[in-house]
Amino acid sequence: MPDLFQYQLLRQDRHCQARRGVLKTARGVVQLPTFMPVGTRGTVKGVEVGLLEETGAQIVLGNTYHLMLRPGEEIVRDLGGLHEFCGWNKPMLTDSGGFQLFSLAQLTKIAEEGAVFRSHIDGRKIELTPERSVAIQEALGADIAMVFDHVIALPNARDKIEDAMERTLRWAVRCQKAHTREDQAQFAIVQGGLERDLRQRCADELAALDFPGYAIGGLSVGEEPQEMYDCLDATLPRLPVNKPRYLMGVGTPADLLEGVKRGVDMFDCVMPTRNGRNAMAFTDSGPMRLRNARYERDDRPLEENCPCRACRRSRAYIRHLFTTGEMLGPILLTIHNITYYQRLMEGARQAIEQDRYLDYCREKYAGWASGIPE
Ligand SMILES: [Zn+2]
Repeated sequence: MPDLFQYQLLRQDRHCQARRGVLKTARGVVQLPTFMPVGTRGTVKGVEVGLLEETGAQIVLGNTYHLMLRPGEEIVRDLGGLHEFCGWNKPMLTDSGGFQLFSLAQLTKIAEEGAVFRSHIDGRKIELTPERSVAIQEALGADIAMVFDHVIALPNARDKIEDAMERTLRWAVRCQKAHTREDQAQFAIVQGGLERDLRQRCADELAALDFPGYAIGGLSVGEEPQEMYDCLDATLPRLPVNKPRYLMGVGTPADLLEGVKRGVDMFDCVMPTRNGRNAMAFTDSGPMRLRNARYERDDRPLEENCPCRACRRSRAYIRHLFTTGEMLGPILLTIHNITYYQRLMEGARQAIEQDRYLDYCREKYAGWASGIPE
């Protein structure tokens, strides 16, 4: 891998597996652990990139599946790549399309060669192979690309999970061979459902292929949180210590804390943005539902110490924006929630540096359990 991409482990907390690290990419440095807001179609919904930067976001995710359908990767490439196209000049990551095929598209066939599916937009038939996913992600030009993996629903029969895991391994080899861009790092994805031995085998085999980073995929698809944590306990120790670890599509603030505790460095999830659009704010006292009548005359900010733009306004004003259907309501709560996730990770980084990450978790859990004070 070129020097453009480097991971450095700065410190591990003395009392758990939580890691403080730094990721160097062609477009700048990312302090770990970190949360990546989801910019599915070339934008974090409703948030202009200048405002996104103010939230403390260091790296943003884009979705290959959506961008290949609209506007198409050639257009993005011809207009200078995804960074140039959307105006975000800091690090970006694109997923491979594997998860969206599973969750959104009408999958018509999955075979060794690749997947054939119908677009969820116009029904047209499209083939996505490991090589094509790599080529599309190279055209988009993010700093980190993901291998194309076979994601399946859980729960599922063990032999089906094993088949998908083994296919994911073969596809990872094909993706590695097809990858050419020196300024882009390609991460492998561990699959294997909730079967710990399959997860471990997948992690071991991928570790031997020496990817610059490793993701854990196919979780947070309806299983109990504890099942996911158990799965992380089984998988993370098998991944190389000197490479970044990314838990895909996860999760709640508590999921982030639990992931970091076990040695995860990177997360992404639509929860802060989607919940923000639905009038829910994350706070240190737990979730705040702004449509609730109790906020009608509440002149306090969402959260006292939050530096975000939404918190320069009152709860009553934001509630008013939602009750009248003004577009600024979803925008402001999206900004607050992304800022909340960034601050949660910033606090985690500081706590790890002081070997007090477990105390930090206890403080956060106690606050979330307390509820919003009157
Ligand atoms: Zn705020």
